[in-house]
Amino acid sequence: MKKSYNVLVKESWCKACGICVEVCPTKVFILPDGGKARPVEEDNCVGCMQCVNLCPELAIQVVDRKEDNGDE
Ligand code: SF4
Ligand code: SF4
Repeated sequence: MKKSYNVLVKESWCKACGICVEVCPTKVFILPDGGKARPVEEDNCVGCMQCVNLCPELAIQVVDRKEDNGDE
């Protein structure tokens, strides 16, 4: 089964530099004009962690969806 991830951007930390948009190999993020980065294609995330590692504001979190909403 394909792994899936939740991609979270802490908007108040994002400085809209666009690095995440540039580095994400699967085009998960968009950067709207005058806005903050938004993960619009979360389902495409392959968990490479490039965005997490390269965001200068440490605003991005990528978590394994399995860990996030495990069965009770
Ligand atoms: S890399 Fe970080 S600071 Fe830059 S646009 Fe993406 S989330 Fe915002
Ligand atoms: S972890 Fe990789 S695939 Fe997922 S959003 Fe970040 S750069 Fe894109």
